[in-house]
Amino acid sequence: MEHPAEASPVRAEIDLWAQGKQAGHLRVPYSRDDSGWGTIGIPVVVVANGEGPTLLLTAGNHGDEYEGQVTLLRLAQALDPAALSGRVIILPAMHFPAALAGTRKSPLDGKDFNRCFPGNPRGSFADVLAHYIDSHLLPLCDAQMDLHSGGTGMDIVPSAVGHVLPDEGYMAKTLAMADAFGAPITLVLEEVNAGPTLLAAAERRGVVALSSELGGIGRLNPRGLAITERGVRNVMKHLGMLDGAPEGEGSRRMTVPDMRHYVFAPHDGIWEAADGLGATVAEGAIAGRLHRIEAPLAPALELSYAAGGLLWCTRGPGRCRAGDPVAVVARDL
Ligand SMILES: [Zn+2]
Repeated sequence: MEHPAEASPVRAEIDLWAQGKQAGHLRVPYSRDDSGWGTIGIPVVVVANGEGPTLLLTAGNHGDEYEGQVTLLRLAQALDPAALSGRVIILPAMHFPAALAGTRKSPLDGKDFNRCFPGNPRGSFADVLAHYIDSHLLPLCDAQMDLHSGGTGMDIVPSAVGHVLPDEGYMAKTLAMADAFGAPITLVLEEVNAGPTLLAAAERRGVVALSSELGGIGRLNPRGLAITERGVRNVMKHLGMLDGAPEGEGSRRMTVPDMRHYVFAPHDGIWEAADGLGATVAEGAIAGRLHRIEAPLAPALELSYAAGGLLWCTRGPGRCRAGDPVAVVARDL
């Protein structure tokens, strides 16, 4: 499915078709009071050698998710063009203003970058950048992987994340890439509001694409980092871009089928989880207690799991607000 091809004001400082390794910036206009022609440079590294697929690797879609950012820095530094077949386009800090600030949303326009696709070349900074990635980078690509974690708010069992796709062949290719990535879990979702995400943008263009959740709570999780580094190289081996076979112990395919698998806080409070991340939990069991520090004699509210399975995602910070998910349970596919 094509979007109207409108010219982008974003300029790549490097030649996306050159061989070897190049590093530079995607220059995005950002007008300020003291610099009407100001720009912000999004770091980009392209490594290319001979024939082969094109893979787009992105991290820093949300600025407070670090396993992907560090994985892509290391990959960009270590990757020897002579060892590669094809082209890899690396954006280690895609939504650069948020990545620099260490925040989920942009300090420039307050936008969640993963709600901006397919973007708008006349919109805000995030819209303009999303439009460039959708209309100028994705059409070059055979495969794409957008590396996320749980951010400040959540902690998540390291997982590849894909969507349920109506085309069986496309679904099979997506699952094969997820198997190669080799995270402990592959979560296959029928996402409710997937349209404005980069993953959905890649799917609209027929690119074999995965998202991921590789840790969280605003930290760099060493285990998540190791899984991500191995996984990205596994995907490149799977695509025939690097020699060798993917390494790992396989991935458990799971899903979060419906809202019963979420536990939401009904009011503000301090969340005391009953179980650790990755625990096996039973339907009806206590998920945790929500404390009201403003009402010292009020008993804590006990919340229960409406469905059993694996505790895939937990609330990160203790303080939560009404409507926040405090637990998400996944079940085997
Ligand atoms: Zn994210």
